[in-house]
Amino acid sequence: MRILWTGVAALALTMPAAAQSLGDQVQQQMPSLMTIYKDLHANPELSFMEVRSAGILAAEARKLGFDVTEKVGGTGVVAVMKNGPGPVVLVRADMDGLPVTEQTGLPGASKVRVTTKEGVETGVMHACGHDTHMTSWIGTARLMAANKDKWSGTLVMIGQPAEERGAGARMMLEDGLYTRFPKPQYALAFHDAAQFPAAAIGYTPGYALANVDSVDILVKGVGGHGAYPQATKDPIVLASRIVTALQTLVSREISPLDSAVVTVGSFHAGAKHNIIPDEARLQLTVRSYTDEVRNHLLDGIARVAKGEAIAAGLPDDKLPVVSVEKDEFTPSTFNTPGFTEDMAAFLTTRFGDKRVIKMPPVMGGEDFGRFSRDDKDIKSLIIWVGGVPQAELDAAKKEGRTLPSLHSPFWAPDAPAVISTATEALTSMAIKLMPKG
Ligand SMILES: [Zn+2]
Ligand SMILES: [Zn+2]
Repeated sequence: MRILWTGVAALALTMPAAAQSLGDQVQQQMPSLMTIYKDLHANPELSFMEVRSAGILAAEARKLGFDVTEKVGGTGVVAVMKNGPGPVVLVRADMDGLPVTEQTGLPGASKVRVTTKEGVETGVMHACGHDTHMTSWIGTARLMAANKDKWSGTLVMIGQPAEERGAGARMMLEDGLYTRFPKPQYALAFHDAAQFPAAAIGYTPGYALANVDSVDILVKGVGGHGAYPQATKDPIVLASRIVTALQTLVSREISPLDSAVVTVGSFHAGAKHNIIPDEARLQLTVRSYTDEVRNHLLDGIARVAKGEAIAAGLPDDKLPVVSVEKDEFTPSTFNTPGFTEDMAAFLTTRFGDKRVIKMPPVMGGEDFGRFSRDDKDIKSLIIWVGGVPQAELDAAKKEGRTLPSLHSPFWAPDAPAVISTATEALTSMAIKLMPKG
């Protein structure tokens, strides 16, 4: 794909836009889109700080004739193009990078360093590929504007902040995304995919990504000398029991047919060999698909923590404090099943059945689900677009090598393949959903 596009672009320049296929129009845009991609890649911004990136999206959309509003839900961009009667289609790209120091060693790698709000100095990188999302958003905006004679309806394109903090979608909705701007019947997005062939499209009907909760447990105890444990209530032993008992939530209380994860990712207590501390702190990630399973897990964590503390003889005022980080909750992403199958069939006719592949759900999180979570009338779909050349996948498999995942400092997607595929997929789906006449 990398080699082909320049040739096609040269050919395309000699043809009138109307006569070109959508694929040709995408290829014609690719050199310019790659310039934008390289700029976005070299200048990543952390969640809530996507000012420069948002400015690039807003300026592009304005040039194309969209009605553009900035600073929606923080740094969010909303670009509306009204083009006659018909449905409202929302197309979303997220804009934030991650506090990861890029180690791909590629020319054009990010060298950006910042000090976070927490005071930690870190490199910044588009390690989740949101730079490919923004670039494809611009590609889609250009193609939708160039093909206005082929669709009728209202296109709402949004640049969303702070996906990595699970907050951006909620903030845009709370800032009036569906009251100040046309409310969609359809919501579309894509995410680049590691461990998936470049230029292939993955789709998952139904639950595609998980509910993600962050839970903190402060386990209180009574500290004292390590040689006199009888005079203490040891929070390390109690917290250890809690960690072990938590394992039975998923294995004994949730149906084996439902998906759930309770991982204790952090356990901190104590400072010295011979001192029993007076507290221990646990940090958990809790994942599920349905609301029922999520509520059961969160209630169960509180119940287990309290029950173990009572069993250890802690008084009421020293029971564990369990807090759920409400602001960082990412709800599960649900692809409307019939709609997803219809769109997958449509994409298959365009890209061929080798490039459109049904995928199992994953326990990762993505806040795109929020745009349709409270209104089941909104049909929603996020597709995956693969970013690893097939030869690289084959070689890694042969050598038993693990390829970098999303969020890895080594993640380097085949950007031209991702951007051209995503631009064509999003544009063709949007046109399909807003038929002319
Ligand atoms: Zn991510
Ligand atoms: Zn992401």
